[in-house]
Amino acid sequence: MSTIDGLPPLREVIASHGLSARKALGQNFLLDLNLTAKIARVAGDLSKVDVLEVGPGPGGLTRGLLAEGARRVVAVEKDARCLPALAEIAAAYPGRLEVLNADALDVDWEARLSPPRKVVANLPYNVGTELLVRWLTPASWPPPWESLTLMFQREVAERIVAQPGGKAYGRLAVLAQWRATAKIAMGLPPEAFTPPPKVRSAVVHIEALPAPRFEADAETLSRVVKAAFAQRRKMLRAALKGLAPDIEDRLHAAGLTPTDRAEQVPIEGFCALAREIAKP
Ligand code: SAM
Repeated sequence: MSTIDGLPPLREVIASHGLSARKALGQNFLLDLNLTAKIARVAGDLSKVDVLEVGPGPGGLTRGLLAEGARRVVAVEKDARCLPALAEIAAAYPGRLEVLNADALDVDWEARLSPPRKVVANLPYNVGTELLVRWLTPASWPPPWESLTLMFQREVAERIVAQPGGKAYGRLAVLAQWRATAKIAMGLPPEAFTPPPKVRSAVVHIEALPAPRFEADAETLSRVVKAAFAQRRKMLRAALKGLAPDIEDRLHAAGLTPTDRAEQVPIEGFCALAREIAKP
């Protein structure tokens, strides 16, 4: 069977390299190269971009990214069993794929990619949220990446793009939408993966804005949002009382209603409150 890049089909790659999926590493592989190329296209034009991929596994998405013309891909994979399969891809695309056998949580990825940079990944479920939060909370803005195109469990994807007023709205929505745009670009059924996970998945596409939508100190906003949603069923004045002794006055000054709950507060409201909390 011919493939988009002349390399063997992924089923053969997995069989010949003995890559049985390991649950502990969140291994659910995409074997359809048309699908991985489609995911790569969600990230937009990659021809002038260095791409960070976390968890390439047998390389389905890596091959999609390279076939779609990515200038360079740096792929960080924890499972050393995948390295020979990834080396074959690197040989087919000379000078365009660098594979690091490492834990993505420990890698200083920024230094290894030249700007502009994009992140595209079918993330391992156990570190996906942690990585997303790190990417969304760099020391300064704009961040080192232009966009993040990431596969998540559908439920996590919905939390990232959620609007105020519902259960899905929380810290992830505020972090993702304060300084970036976030949308669900495509949904995937469990059967798209080998082995199929229990739940549906979705690809989220996040693009960094040049500047935050509303002024606020990132660290203060983070504290406010964390406290507000840690006790999301409580009224704001109770959930946030640890932040300032005169929290009710500060809520009023920010234009918020102290008896509202966190999920009713739009991002603009959290930013206004962060500015009030930051005052002496
Ligand atoms: N990209 C491949 C695909 O789409 O078929 C595999 C995706 S699979 C959901 C997640 C991959 O992340 C696995 O290959 C797994 O070994 C790898 N992984 C798990 N934890 C990791 C970590 N902390 N750092 C880097 N890679 C990790």
